[in-house]
Amino acid sequence: MATINWEKEIQPLIKKYKGKKHPLEYNNIYQLVIMVVLSAQDSDKHINQVAPAFFKAFPNMRSLAKADADALMPFLNSVRNFGNKIKWLTALSQKIKDDKNIPTNMDALTALSGIGRKSANVIMREAGVKAEGVIVDLHVIRVANRLGITKSEDPKKIEQDIMKVIPQKDWAEAGMNMSFLGREICRPKPLCPECLMKPVCEFYQKGFYDKMILQENTSKKTAAKKIAKK
Ligand code: SF4
Repeated sequence: MATINWEKEIQPLIKKYKGKKHPLEYNNIYQLVIMVVLSAQDSDKHINQVAPAFFKAFPNMRSLAKADADALMPFLNSVRNFGNKIKWLTALSQKIKDDKNIPTNMDALTALSGIGRKSANVIMREAGVKAEGVIVDLHVIRVANRLGITKSEDPKKIEQDIMKVIPQKDWAEAGMNMSFLGREICRPKPLCPECLMKPVCEFYQKGFYDKMILQENTSKKTAAKKIAKK
């Protein structure tokens, strides 16, 4: 495939999803930070279910900073890796102390317990501040590889590869919007015919989607023949 001008070709994706809120159902930046920490290796849907009761008990950073780990346990014991997450939330709330002190830059966010680059990028995108990186979650890993922007499974390398071909003004939306595409269309079994990126997508243009469908049909026919012979 010819070299793709991603600065230009990513624009239809950005137009489709620009400004779409993250699936975590937060109401303010305190809730956003807490839910982003809780959602690591768990689903947004599950965190949306457990969050209301948690926020009723701990409505802000000040109340959370005063609580000890045991008080958080009943609200979070269904969350994956809850032991570490409780420790992280306790530590970060005691460091931040008040909602007004919640940072919105990469260095300060990643200095907090439980917040890595991906989480910091999500918080900064939702807070509407200038991006310092690109969100790379499991969906972005898949989508960026299929599009042909990267050939890596390492989130750090993928983030660098995306940052090299897309200008900083689009970093926040490009990452989140690839994630939305991965959730809706470019799923593990992709829906390429419905995808607006197919004119520039390496996976589609190299015929991998057609091969995938062909293989599926062949497997179905073989299975049907075996059943008919019985
Ligand atoms: S064309 Fe297919 S593989 Fe490419 S981004 Fe779209 S859904 Fe994913």
